[in-house]
Amino acid sequence: MNLWKRLMCYCRRRSPWLFHLNSGSCNGCDIEIVAALAPRYDAEQLGVRLEGSPRHADILCVTGPVTRNAVCAIKTVYGQVCGPKAVVAIGSCPATTNVFIDSRTLDGPLGKHIPVDVFVPGCPPRPDAIIEGVAKAAQILAERGDEVPEVITAAEVQA
Ligand code: SF4
Repeated sequence: MNLWKRLMCYCRRRSPWLFHLNSGSCNGCDIEIVAALAPRYDAEQLGVRLEGSPRHADILCVTGPVTRNAVCAIKTVYGQVCGPKAVVAIGSCPATTNVFIDSRTLDGPLGKHIPVDVFVPGCPPRPDAIIEGVAKAAQILAERGDEVPEVITAAEVQA
């Protein structure tokens, strides 16, 4: 690996930028993400930053059990995150659909629609567990180096 690639991998590991996507959560996990970034846990001090656009992010953090309405948005946003990228499923909902498993309004779990790299269990998970999950995703990103990202086309999103 040349010097430029090594520098890129170092930066990705040391300062991952996140995009947060709610796929129909109860907001419990979303509040814990905010707590992880707020002064008490202060993930920003470690270089973790919440971004407003998926095009600027390295890591996609998804909460919620994946409602039918959210599927298209999840695929679109996943396609908009530039590669290499990693996906973190935050809470038990995106991993298993949790207590909503028999709901007819759901089309989860998340792994059915996009590849998930890290699962952070809990209902909701604690902020320190979320930070640990993001750190694992940052390590995965660094290992992926200059891997060519999977591109989801508009036709696949519509399907
Ligand atoms: S895992 Fe628990 S706290 Fe998080 S969205 Fe699901 S029900 Fe809410």
